[in-house]
Amino acid sequence: MEIREKIKAAGLKATPQRRAIYEIMREVGHCPIDDIIARIKEEHPDVTISTVYRIMDSFCETGLLNKFVNTEGKTIFDITPHEHHHIQTANNEFIDIEDKTLSALIKKRILEKLPEGEEIDNIQIQITTKAK
Ligand SMILES: [Zn+2]
Repeated sequence: MEIREKIKAAGLKATPQRRAIYEIMREVGHCPIDDIIARIKEEHPDVTISTVYRIMDSFCETGLLNKFVNTEGKTIFDITPHEHHHIQTANNEFIDIEDKTLSALIKKRILEKLPEGEEIDNIQIQITTKAK
């Protein structure tokens, strides 16, 4: 789907700033906000940092993006909004793992350990690697 249509389908106006940021996310896949700000400033020096934060929040709220915290405690934005798992490499890159069987197995195994009246909201496994 075209970026413009994708943003509109999420109920947002496809402003040039939103399109530029979404385009960056499509290129990089996973990215901390500092890198997005640095990239957007190259093409759109007029865009403020607070605008980037607002846009990223709106993208997450409308389900265009997902976010998670890496092993260093940094928020990473993710172009893949649905439930999936990650391998965080030694170079701090992220590889998506889409494995519904693994998620289903985890759900089954921990179901009885959940607090009463609560259900699983999201499962996200993060596997880290190191050089051999
Ligand atoms: Zn991901």
